[in-house]
Amino acid sequence: MGRILSLLLALVILASCSDGQAQKSNANQEDEGNTTEENEETDEENNNEESTDQKKEEEESDEVEEDQEPEPRYIMNEAWSFEPIDDAAKDVVLLTFDDAPDKYGLEIAQTLHKLNAPAIFFVNGHFIDTEEKRKVLKEIHELGFPIGNHTMTHASLQEISEEEQEAEILDLNDEIEEITGERPKFFRAPFGQNTELTEQIAEDEEMLLMNWTYGYDWEADYQDADSLADIMVNTELLVPGANLLMHDREWTAEAVPEIVDGFKEKGYELLDPDYIQIEE
Ligand SMILES: [Zn+2]
Repeated sequence: MGRILSLLLALVILASCSDGQAQKSNANQEDEGNTTEENEETDEENNNEESTDQKKEEEESDEVEEDQEPEPRYIMNEAWSFEPIDDAAKDVVLLTFDDAPDKYGLEIAQTLHKLNAPAIFFVNGHFIDTEEKRKVLKEIHELGFPIGNHTMTHASLQEISEEEQEAEILDLNDEIEEITGERPKFFRAPFGQNTELTEQIAEDEEMLLMNWTYGYDWEADYQDADSLADIMVNTELLVPGANLLMHDREWTAEAVPEIVDGFKEKGYELLDPDYIQIEE
């Protein structure tokens, strides 16, 4: 009788252990950011070939879904803000980060990724001119962020020749595609200065040309995280669908969590750029 009891007890302990492991493994599948735990998970699963195969299949079907273009749910208006198509949520904002990837772009992308917050990174050629910086760009893209074209050298496009305008935009698209495997779908001119030609190039390249609704992180009064987060969320310029301009700057990187939380508290969702309609 005593032996049966201790056998039962042992079974109960075993059962609760494997339960705990199953829960842990589920949590790991959601948390893609934690490399150590992911390795543990892989080791556990290698003991069971069937479940490893199953996971592979799931990953493959995920990839197929990612490759398909989702139906557009937002369309940009004349004021560079976004309006919902059909019944998409109206109270949204789009986060964008220009002049990337300078010193803080990767940190911003990692913070956004942890917060599950989508955004576009607008990139310049002079920030991806070393092998190290090209790797950084690839990492930002692999974290799930679309890379936009912000020109090779941040030139004022209205002050250079047509040939130079072409090179500023097309050479950068080639480079970004070479690094990330994807040609940019978004274009933002430095200082918001476009020409007829840059508009035509964007159209030919099937990029959506955008300026922005508002931004503050270059103004002296807002070069600290708290002031910046406060004005970004509480400005009178906030409208549903606002297109928010920020930059690869130290105080902006620090303000990101506060900005994301602030909009959520206000009842705004973050617009996923994948749902923006590109062609007119
Ligand atoms: Zn810029």
